[in-house]
Amino acid sequence: MTAWDALIGQDETVAILQAAANAAADIAAGRTPPAGAMTHAWLFTGPPGSGRSVAAQAFAAALQCETLDAVGCGECFACKAVAHRSHPDVHSVVPEGLSIGVDEMRAIVGRAARRPLNGRWQIVVIEDADRLTEQASNALLKAVEEPPERTVFLLCAPSTHPDDVSVTIRSRCRMVALRTPAAAAVAAVLQREGVDAATAEWAAAAGQGHVGRSRRLASDTAASDRRAEVLMIPARLTSMRECLDAADRLVTSAETEAAALAAELDSAETEAMSVALGSGGSGRGVATMARGSAGVLKDLEKRQRSRATRTQRDSLDRALVDLAAFYRDVLLVQSGSPVPPAHPDFADDVQLVASRISSAGALRRIDAVQACRDALELNVKPRIAVEAMAATLRLPSA
Ligand SMILES: [Zn+2]
Repeated sequence: MTAWDALIGQDETVAILQAAANAAADIAAGRTPPAGAMTHAWLFTGPPGSGRSVAAQAFAAALQCETLDAVGCGECFACKAVAHRSHPDVHSVVPEGLSIGVDEMRAIVGRAARRPLNGRWQIVVIEDADRLTEQASNALLKAVEEPPERTVFLLCAPSTHPDDVSVTIRSRCRMVALRTPAAAAVAAVLQREGVDAATAEWAAAAGQGHVGRSRRLASDTAASDRRAEVLMIPARLTSMRECLDAADRLVTSAETEAAALAAELDSAETEAMSVALGSGGSGRGVATMARGSAGVLKDLEKRQRSRATRTQRDSLDRALVDLAAFYRDVLLVQSGSPVPPAHPDFADDVQLVASRISSAGALRRIDAVQACRDALELNVKPRIAVEAMAATLRLPSA
């Protein structure tokens, strides 16, 4: 396994990154690389699940790889450390909540300016650069404009749109655009990981090019159950009452998923924090510390709330992506297209809906789902956005 094997269906990108890693090895060895082959700032874009952060991590491993002329061998200490996220010179910023704040960004930029400890480069990976606050973005821009000699910034974002990455940061970065991997490529990987052929094929189609989602569907029954619940909705929306019920189930299911994850993470964090702050101690200084620690705990709670909102939104968004694909399958049936459907296991429901609505109706429903996704991204209350959508999805009476 080399560091590149995790990148599925991205041959062109791998070639570009390998060339850059070779040039970087030249620089580290004191040789002169081909002009422009290595760059200090990179922007990886692509739809969620296409492997933006996987590409960034593989590139980071290739830059630190210790095997002569085998950039990204996957076997050496450096490659393994990067894969396990424990390399001292690779700093990942993975936002759990809705945004990456300026303090976090300043701390990372400061660390990135130091000389590499073990590796050849100081590497900063920002997995969701679209979640930088404006201030954090400005702090990053300063560093990207004048990078220290051995520092490399790897940014990941859904697109190069100014909503995702500021124009000034983008202008300093070399672009790497990942494509949605083909279902066959995803299925092949799942099979390599031990999933049986039929499940791999189904999960690859249902994941719609999102490798992580396909992997979860193949291995986690709770995830495949939730998907089935969502896909049962369109064929059953025959009354307003049912639309409201469906909306309620969608939102409640997202809330439940978020709450389960939060309960797991929050209590462990709060406890670790209380222990670190010496709660339960006594004697001089405790009162002073208690005053300080109240602020720290409040900060933690704020971060946890932000993360819960994010998880709930992500969960709901996955459901909406599945719904949109259902109506795309309806369109495929109506037009007799040979394109393989996303949800072959719901072919009966797709047939039924295709016989009840027109193609224009299917398109209108896809638009409604997309409008709901946009509204959620703009912080509209989930219940309100989902109810409005569900009303539009209603089937005309037979
Ligand atoms: Zn290596």
